[in-house]
Amino acid sequence: MVVAAVAVGAFAAAAAGQTIQAASGGGGTAADEIVPLAGVNNASAAMGVGGDDDGSDAPELLAMTRQVDGGVEAQKMAASERFTQARVQRAAQLKAQQDEAARPKYVRPAQGTFTSGFGARWGVTHYGVDIANSIGTPIVAVADGVVIEAGPASGFGLWVRIQHPDGTISVYGHMNDFVVREGQQVKAGQLIAHIGNRGQSTGPHLHFEIWDAAGRKMNPLPWLNARGISL
Ligand SMILES: [Zn+2]
Repeated sequence: MVVAAVAVGAFAAAAAGQTIQAASGGGGTAADEIVPLAGVNNASAAMGVGGDDDGSDAPELLAMTRQVDGGVEAQKMAASERFTQARVQRAAQLKAQQDEAARPKYVRPAQGTFTSGFGARWGVTHYGVDIANSIGTPIVAVADGVVIEAGPASGFGLWVRIQHPDGTISVYGHMNDFVVREGQQVKAGQLIAHIGNRGQSTGPHLHFEIWDAAGRKMNPLPWLNARGISL
């Protein structure tokens, strides 16, 4: 209750126009602070806030105590919350790194039946592999890369070409439609188009080619096999 009396007294002293420098100024001891304020009991009594230890100002004491403690608690909670947020953020970053490490870097470009390989066919060279499936079957990027072309192409009807970080280009042809645009970054397995029957095609299928960095058309089968994909 001494604390309450000092606090109330300080308020009363300020209200009464007396200086409280001695009370609030730095360097004063507890005893220094109490002495000048002890003389303003009448003022505080006159204001009706009371200086008696009769319990009437106990709620004020409790209120002040709660206020102080509440501030400390709020700081603790804020610090705890920041700590939790940081921990959640670190966990999310770790999860993202694990997901990135675990995700497939090469995927089969479409589900379906392998119907034709790379090489001589019907007196001409077939520069890719064919995977037959119904119109609308999803076609996905075989690896991460950048779409360098998406649109009409002679013989292919429509094609999409994706350049990969090592310079290799994957080519997808005869599709019914495509859902990527030139310049777009794509991830392995990302939907880029749907199987169709456009261009020089004898039935719904994906025609898939691999060009090396110099633009030479390679047999996609060993390229795929070397990356864990079989057709
Ligand atoms: Zn083909």
